[in-house]
Amino acid sequence: MKMYELLKKIYPHRMSPNSPGLDAVVDILKEELPFEVREYQGGREHNGWFVPLSWHPVKAEIRKGGKLIYDGMSHPLGVIGYSRSFKGKVSLEELKKHLFHHPKFHDALVYHCDLFYKSGQKNWGFCMPYNLVKTLKPGAYEVELTTVHAPGTMKVADYLLPGDSTDTIVLNSHTCHAGQANDDVAGLVVAVEVMKRLAKRKHRRFSYRLIAAPEHFGTVFYLADLPDKVRKTFRAAMFLEMLGNDNRLALQESFTGEAEIDRAAHHHLRHNFPDYFSDKFRTIVGNDETVWEAPGYEIPTISLSRFPYPEYHSSRDTHEIIRDDKLEDSANAVLGIIDVFETNRVMKRKFTGLIALSNPKYDLYISQADPSIRPTIPADQLRWNRLMDYIPRYFDGKHTVLDVAVKHELPYHLVLDYVRRFEKKGLIEFA
Ligand SMILES: [Zn+2]
Repeated sequence: MKMYELLKKIYPHRMSPNSPGLDAVVDILKEELPFEVREYQGGREHNGWFVPLSWHPVKAEIRKGGKLIYDGMSHPLGVIGYSRSFKGKVSLEELKKHLFHHPKFHDALVYHCDLFYKSGQKNWGFCMPYNLVKTLKPGAYEVELTTVHAPGTMKVADYLLPGDSTDTIVLNSHTCHAGQANDDVAGLVVAVEVMKRLAKRKHRRFSYRLIAAPEHFGTVFYLADLPDKVRKTFRAAMFLEMLGNDNRLALQESFTGEAEIDRAAHHHLRHNFPDYFSDKFRTIVGNDETVWEAPGYEIPTISLSRFPYPEYHSSRDTHEIIRDDKLEDSANAVLGIIDVFETNRVMKRKFTGLIALSNPKYDLYISQADPSIRPTIPADQLRWNRLMDYIPRYFDGKHTVLDVAVKHELPYHLVLDYVRRFEKKGLIEFA
């Protein structure tokens, strides 16, 4: 299914970290790719994290004098996540303590997920548009809120695509935000599309793994249960989120900001999506990168998003703010970064001394206008001139193609094409 269609099919579900809504989404994902489903029992503890119990609301009515004022079941965000059941008569003052609204969009619902993460807190509540909250008159309100907290397993969808090497690049998106399209069904459908395109390739140098999991809970328990020797094959990870709205790409660096994945991502985006912006670890968005990068794991994890966007964490985050071309650009950005990984290698010379690049038997000189005739040489030609002067020294068994492209501010794929010509002439080999 195409990215936009898949997004429209998934996002209206009532997902939460452990819920029938998430189970339904995992079933949809299995129609797209042969995911293996990993399950973690509700209530299980690791490092102080608890897998939430399977939760969903079944009835959520507020009445006044018998007349229905609000039905929290009318939207997946209408009941606060992990809410307890409550039945009784309350005053308006009391009721208001249990109503949550969006601070800016008075016609919209806010995403309330606090209770999942604060296992000690128990509360009940509704999300209601402020436009309705402000019309409520004093008096007694009858609340009938029924939610189910049940045993059941949290599902993590895991798809492994093997390559020549067991070294693995991980894509991760989260699957726990009810009724929201960009956060993060957009990242999920981009990740699915990238995996489909990688699966079609005849040859892959690295293995790839897509892990679609509830935010934090999913990856905490997934990594806790994964054998060390499998986890140690994870060379880098990309968290993909909020990739369909109309904004430039945002690259959030890994913890060190200096990993190969950082350099590959910066370089690819600079040359292909020049309006992108970037910032340090955890300064743009906060997701599972803290889990991947946790001590003992330390898997370099970047995050790619189109944050910020106004509809974030509200019921306005629908397919209507998603653009097909932005999803497509996002998939291409991820594949471009992956392609740097796939092809980046150390270069080693098989010659000594200076090679006459312009000799027809090598044909490695990048010709340009005679500088004495044309005194103004375009900047990129100057860069190629310089590269030709420097490149013999880079074939030292230490520099990679990416090192050279970054240093000389030239597009990676052009530098790769150029050094491949040296290889074809038998002058270098890739280690
Ligand atoms: Zn979110």
